[in-house]
Amino acid sequence: MQYVFVLDKSKQPLDPCHPARARQLLKEKRAAVFRRYPFTILLKDRELEESITHAHQIKIDPGSRTSGIALVRTGDDTESAGTCGKVLWAAELAHRGQAIKSALDDRRSVRRNRRNRKCRYRPPRFDNRRRPEGWLPPSLESRVANIQTWVRRLVWSASVESISMELVKFDTQVLQNPEISGAEYQQGELMGYEIREYLLEKWGRKCAYCGRTGVPLEVEHIVPKSRGGSKRVSNLTLSCQECNQEKGNRTAAEFGHPEIQAEARQPLQDAAAVNTTRWELWRRLSDHKSWSLQENGLPVHCGTGGRTKYNRIRFGLPKAHWIDAACVGETEGLHLPPTLTPLHIQAMGHGTRQMCRMDKYGFPRTGSKGPRRVFGFKTGDLVTAQVPAGKHAGSYRGRVAIRSSGSFNIQADGSIVQGISYRYCRLDFRSDGYSYSQKGAAFPPHN
Ligand SMILES: [Zn+2]
Repeated sequence: MQYVFVLDKSKQPLDPCHPARARQLLKEKRAAVFRRYPFTILLKDRELEESITHAHQIKIDPGSRTSGIALVRTGDDTESAGTCGKVLWAAELAHRGQAIKSALDDRRSVRRNRRNRKCRYRPPRFDNRRRPEGWLPPSLESRVANIQTWVRRLVWSASVESISMELVKFDTQVLQNPEISGAEYQQGELMGYEIREYLLEKWGRKCAYCGRTGVPLEVEHIVPKSRGGSKRVSNLTLSCQECNQEKGNRTAAEFGHPEIQAEARQPLQDAAAVNTTRWELWRRLSDHKSWSLQENGLPVHCGTGGRTKYNRIRFGLPKAHWIDAACVGETEGLHLPPTLTPLHIQAMGHGTRQMCRMDKYGFPRTGSKGPRRVFGFKTGDLVTAQVPAGKHAGSYRGRVAIRSSGSFNIQADGSIVQGISYRYCRLDFRSDGYSYSQKGAAFPPHN
């Protein structure tokens, strides 16, 4: 279940409603389906001025492969008044950074090979390549742009008043000077999470002594407390339970790891700037002039990974990208409807610019590229095909791959059906560079 976005008759966002309510409105013909992803209906008999709307917040947990996005109603006056937010909509957005990188690597190797074969070496005449400010490599740029796209779509679909994103893994200010911050830090609990995230980053998410990964790691004193070791971050590392037990009352050097004692004294380099894409995303979301969201822009709040984890464990929630997103930043409480499921979004790109396909040696393998659109269909569109007779008789629903002959392939439920005529296809959703799935079903059933 996910809440359904609602627009008024002049396409202004109203409050998202329960899917049961949306079904009722659609059945009574008071509303029409406006957009399928995210599922949005348009109320034909309502204006924004005559409706009550609440404040919503977009929460983002940017990841390298998958980002979590959640839409939370913050200004709720019906149940549990106060700062308790209710999660209405959530998504897991899978990026295609690796695919972009390998495509560029392929292209580069073919180009270099061709140059070696065809051109005599000459030194470069000019060094005139300069990257504009905020330039990111294409694979990272796509991650930032994916999230920007979805923030923009959510701002169109609901009355959003702020954005909250996880900016850094841990708060260096707090690690250096724990007294400066709020009560949660002083009580020490949240502090522990920040320290843990710092240590995970510094020691590479593995046991510092035996190098094992994927086991529960304990915070370990390099010089034991009983031997006068301090509880500062510079005396802490992570180890598995066995190593911790075995080390016992010895220092790391006595345990046979003098290098750990030396490494511990060095602070983590560029601790704050570990993740450039997050900082760039933050810069773009805050800079409202660069992408006109709203006239005055939206305030962007920042959280740390330590706080996200602290919130998630405090609320007793399992680990998932979309749940992490909902837990980002300062929240008093979180109401997660038990039936809520995230929308799985996979970035697919918008096709290729290559004029024809190549084999691994860089020689053309196919004829020149066909038209982008055939009989009104484009590769990546979601279609329903009803084939009345013949070998493929039946009903199919899925992603279409076009051929200029008009005989298409349809990819549905993990299998590909080849040779379906365009005549039997009906367009359900025009490709927008993403593919969608909702736990099990490829996309929600028709009304
Ligand atoms: Zn170990």
